[in-house]
Amino acid sequence: MNNNPTVLEIRLSSIEHNLNFFRSKLQNSTKILAVVKASGYGSDAVAVARFLEELKIDYFAVAYTDEGIALRNSGIKTPILVLHPQLENLGLIIQYNLEPNLYSKKIFLAFLELSKEYGILEYPIHLKFNTGLNRLGFKELDIPFLLHHLKDQPTLLLKSIFSHLAASEDRNERDYTLNQIDSFRSIAESFERTLGFKPMMHMSNTSGILNYPEAHFDMVRLGLGLYGFSNDPGFNSKLKNVLSLKSVISQIHEIDKNESVGYNKGFTAKKQMRTATIPLGHADGFFRSLGQGKVFVKIHGNKAPIIGNICMDMAMIDVSDIDCEEGDQVIIFDSQQEILELAFQADTISYEILTALGGRIRRVIH
Ligand SMILES: *Cc1c(COP(=O)(O)O)cnc(C)c1O
Repeated sequence: MNNNPTVLEIRLSSIEHNLNFFRSKLQNSTKILAVVKASGYGSDAVAVARFLEELKIDYFAVAYTDEGIALRNSGIKTPILVLHPQLENLGLIIQYNLEPNLYSKKIFLAFLELSKEYGILEYPIHLKFNTGLNRLGFKELDIPFLLHHLKDQPTLLLKSIFSHLAASEDRNERDYTLNQIDSFRSIAESFERTLGFKPMMHMSNTSGILNYPEAHFDMVRLGLGLYGFSNDPGFNSKLKNVLSLKSVISQIHEIDKNESVGYNKGFTAKKQMRTATIPLGHADGFFRSLGQGKVFVKIHGNKAPIIGNICMDMAMIDVSDIDCEEGDQVIIFDSQQEILELAFQADTISYEILTALGGRIRRVIH
């Protein structure tokens, strides 16, 4: 049982609002795949998936097989695409009725062989093409190989062909992105021509949905946007914040002038002051780079800066001018703006702040 005083509150109604915002950007027939990898971007994949299943989401995606298994074990029935299934997990993929992304000849042939061994018919698979991200995916010249194996066989059912945009949030890379969209379209067309049916096509992540309506195709893969961010200040204001991180004061200290606080004497008091210790550290995703006064937390609406170096499990804050006591609530963030500020100060992106939120923080679903 987790009774950690530091809690991450997850507001499902904000997720619904964000989903509806993205729906309003799509044609009625365009399906939505919700990306719930990495614990639902640091939130709670099972809670988010259960909620989205009630809202009749079309698909889920996770990165790894065990993430898909966890969803199935919690009763999720919606199709789940596993983006990085791994050769050694293909048996589990079938056992848990997960749908693999097959992205190379090696994994494709391994899955085909295994499915034949199991005597399976029409197992849903997805093929990923590399159109410019150079991460995972087949190349265009692999198409004849794939068509040869997929044509007129009963074992595999090609549910979708997909690709991933490399710079959908970057307006300066419009040409690069349009090129990716063109290549993807021509790749998908060659499958339709030879197979005689049209697998689903999808290529847009959050920023792709917002910036490239021509890349919506049959389905979009919505991740970050569900959790309240869009990589674009203009659209952020249309989204609602989903996550709030709250803690409490563990202990208060009166510190004399010239006393130091924290590891490596990371802070030295210039005058007499009061500090408070909070139960949240770099092991929880409260990065060490955020220490030394870079960011503040809020107590009764007042700003208390982090002083010294953030420890693994705790951090110290200056509460000299704040009327507070042990047990009082501390808010680390409860708005998009505060999460973006943490990302800015840690020299990273909102994705990393969210996904780094550690597993021992208690999740509370609202
Ligand atoms: C993570 C991921 C997404 C979601 O991207 P967002 O920018 O968070 O919307 C979509 N597609 C693939 C292949 C991914 O890995």
